[in-house]
Amino acid sequence: MLSLKIYNSLSNTKEVFKPIHAQHVGMYVCGPTVYSNVHLGNVRTFMSFDMILRYFKHLGFKVRYVRNITDAGHLEDDSTEDKISKKARIEKLEPMEIVQQYTVDFHQILERFNCIAPSIEPTATGHIVEQIEAIKIILNKGLAYEVNGSVYFDVLKYNKTKHYGILSGRNIEELLSNTRELDGQSEKRNPQDFALWKKASPQHIMRWPSPWSDGFPGWHLECTVMSTKYLGEKFDIHGGGMDLKFPHHECEIAQAEACNNHPPVNYWLHANMLTLNGKKMSKSTGNYILPNQLFSGNTDLLSKPFSPSVVRFLFMQAHYRSILDLSSEALEASEKGYNRLMEALQILPNLNASNTSDFNVNDWKAKCYEAMNDDFNTPILIAHLFEGVKQINLIEQSQTHLTQQDLADFSKTMKAFVFDVLGLVNENVVLNIQTLDKVVSMLIKMRNQARADKNWTLSDEIRDELASYGVQLKDGKEGTTFSIN
Ligand code: AMP
Ligand code: ZN
Repeated sequence: MLSLKIYNSLSNTKEVFKPIHAQHVGMYVCGPTVYSNVHLGNVRTFMSFDMILRYFKHLGFKVRYVRNITDAGHLEDDSTEDKISKKARIEKLEPMEIVQQYTVDFHQILERFNCIAPSIEPTATGHIVEQIEAIKIILNKGLAYEVNGSVYFDVLKYNKTKHYGILSGRNIEELLSNTRELDGQSEKRNPQDFALWKKASPQHIMRWPSPWSDGFPGWHLECTVMSTKYLGEKFDIHGGGMDLKFPHHECEIAQAEACNNHPPVNYWLHANMLTLNGKKMSKSTGNYILPNQLFSGNTDLLSKPFSPSVVRFLFMQAHYRSILDLSSEALEASEKGYNRLMEALQILPNLNASNTSDFNVNDWKAKCYEAMNDDFNTPILIAHLFEGVKQINLIEQSQTHLTQQDLADFSKTMKAFVFDVLGLVNENVVLNIQTLDKVVSMLIKMRNQARADKNWTLSDEIRDELASYGVQLKDGKEGTTFSIN
């Protein structure tokens, strides 16, 4: 098997993946700030990492996948107000009610898109003690300073011995000349310094005691603390959307270096953005579609409703590091392709084997792995899967032949890539169950009529024949119900 190559944002090159512990992967992905419903852009990033997780699992790795919930500390841009506190104030709810509501929404939405739940899902508010301990260490190293009950990371001092900008490629001098002067009101020594701890204003609801003030931790700190707590001071993979590279991930590296004297992560992975009308999908600009609007078709931006698997298939047709624009046309094309793929997979179990093979399954299989081993290239993989679809149709028409063994291998590989790795679900099967429900209900009605007519032969025949297909009828007080064996 070819080795897996991953594009590392730290080196800006594709590198061979070497796990710290053989056959194990530690992966941390920045989770959502739970102050509003996740939009499809957020979903794309989480789905990209779901595909990566699935491929590692498929290759036989044991993965510890940690994805946090930001439930405190994420400030509104250009403000000192916490996003969750602000929403709680506006909606006159407890901050933890906001957190609960949107955490539940997030889980339900990702489940609909068939994303695997993380192994650990830590929250910022559940790790305040650890964050305070990390701040103490950074202060002791002289890399942070306290002003009026708040603590800031000293970027200039850190940059004397380490490299602030190592991930984003930004240069501190440039950063300094590009940022506006401090307005004199700021407590920071330098505009690039970032908060490790903020003193809470009297009206700020979410607050915890600390050696410096009643306050709350800075957003970047939770990820440093929770990733290293559960994956170790050095772990394999850290992921997130491209927009988190700077400053969030840059600050994470600086904090971890300050605490542990070495870089925290071997491979930094960044997923690219979902756009709508060519612009980044974003809550703050109003340029977004919510998953529920897509499922119901309740938006002027789409021609009709689309199912989760059609969206998943569209997302998988773009490489995770490429920008993808969402449109009705793209979704309609994806729906056609998805249906074609599912139709082929439905006839796959009924294909007949031959004495010889005239399609090289091994070559085809190697190409599928080659695509995924080249930085998880799902669009190329899908092109090979459509070659598979073509072969399925040719075998059905007896124009291509496969031996029993080749057919079994081909079928297993097709299913593994479509269902296990890409995470698609055959929604048409779900539809069939709904249809079956209707058909059995109709037969129950006919049987009731036969019983009313005292036509016991017919009513028994319906019951027995259904039983022979594995459908058991049960007569009760409320009427007849059925179960499927
Ligand atoms: P947030 O809740 O804003 O911290 O975002 C959660 C995740 O969604 C982060 O990894 C972001 O990078 C990602 N994200 C936000 N907007 C988009 C977008 N338009 N396309 C893809 N990912 C996004
Ligand atoms: Zn993070």
